[in-house]
Amino acid sequence: MLDEYIREHKLRHTLERERLLRMIADINEPIFTVHDIEIKRKDAHISLPTLYNSLNLFVSARILYRLERTQGVTSEQYKWALDAKNTLRVICTRCGREATFTDRALLRIVQERKYANFVPAHFSLYVYGTCKTCRRLLIQKNKKQ
Ligand SMILES: [Zn+2]
Repeated sequence: MLDEYIREHKLRHTLERERLLRMIADINEPIFTVHDIEIKRKDAHISLPTLYNSLNLFVSARILYRLERTQGVTSEQYKWALDAKNTLRVICTRCGREATFTDRALLRIVQERKYANFVPAHFSLYVYGTCKTCRRLLIQKNKKQ
């Protein structure tokens, strides 16, 4: 997607952008902040202006999606735009393992719901918790204590 966008807009292909995109892909979170990327950026020797310019470019190229700032959130939040289809997912908050699930009734409820002064485009529903493997490890750990 990045290559396509760069070609279409006659931009220069840079290694920094590509590296940055890979770094972001390594963040195993559905939603991440500029701060999460910041930590990795320093090791990769990517300048702050490059980081912000690239993030804007990724948003324009519809690779990333910038979330509206919510109260109490100090750092800008992003998510992958590729996830921007109607999905139901479970995520383990311990290991980051993610899986999709199907629930036609639940999909229908969200899709057919009417919103005041708002036209929905798509949605993602995340259910956070502990996966089977992590739960087993936790139980074992508790038994040892
Ligand atoms: Zn887990």
